[in-house]
Amino acid sequence: MKQQTNANPIVLVTGGSRGIGRATCLAFAKAGYDVAVNYAGNEAAAQETAQACHELNPDGKTAVYGADVADADAVDAMFKAVKADFGGLDVLVNNAGITRDNLIALTKPEDFDAVVATDLRGVFLCMKAASRIMMRQRYGRIINVSSVVGLRGNAGQVSYSAAKAGVVGMTKSLAKELGRRNITVNAVAPGYVQTDMTGALDDKQKAAASQNIPLNRLGTPEDIAGVIAFLASDAASYITGQVLPVDGGMAI
Ligand code: NAP
Repeated sequence: MKQQTNANPIVLVTGGSRGIGRATCLAFAKAGYDVAVNYAGNEAAAQETAQACHELNPDGKTAVYGADVADADAVDAMFKAVKADFGGLDVLVNNAGITRDNLIALTKPEDFDAVVATDLRGVFLCMKAASRIMMRQRYGRIINVSSVVGLRGNAGQVSYSAAKAGVVGMTKSLAKELGRRNITVNAVAPGYVQTDMTGALDDKQKAAASQNIPLNRLGTPEDIAGVIAFLASDAASYITGQVLPVDGGMAI
């Protein structure tokens, strides 16, 4: 979708079609941003997110971009299109992610590769493409979505925790690399958030899952989106290289 350059701040959210990414798109639309919504295969959901952004901020621009974040050519094409359509990029949210959970004995190497491709390589490719634009602007905010599992590990999630811990390392390294260019790089580490990824739980399952969470409830996509929007705001301009758990106290 072609858009015109304008004066609003611009955010690209990977995996903006559903869950935490969708809520993040809406949070930025509410804050007056133009919103570029990335998706992998679910174009209808991405269009619905874009429409919801438009309803929240009718003066803002939105566009959707189908691209597999693990595909270098697709990522380059997406960032070129965003730059051409919006005129720049102020904020990148690396949210796209998948799981292929299993005990290690049952984890196939190709499952490990698939998780690392999307959840780690995808973040690398998007940060690389965004940093090209942001370095020239001498301004940018990159917010990566890691996980409490990347900090603490979890049985049955060796692949996922490898990717999410890798995101933490990349966040800190790139913060050191880009700080002088006025670009901050931070991460959030959500706990247990109710989305398609975690599946539908009945009340009994939710109560059981909440037992190890000090705030005694599961997270909502909006709980995470608000913190991501904060990290992109002027109030967070002296924060970089940090990983902020947003987990109801789960990782304490
Ligand atoms: P979700 O509801 O399953 O949504 C995943 C999103 O990622 C969708 O928009 C999907 O696009 C997109 N996506 C998947 N693979 C992609 C690829 N290769 N290229 C581009 N987009 C891709 O997931 P979620 O729960 O909102 O999770 C969002 C992020 O938060 C992930 O990084 C996840 O690891 C992290 N996280 C989630 C939880 C949780 O409890 N839910 C906890 C900690 C961290 P399509 O709609 O096109 O498929």
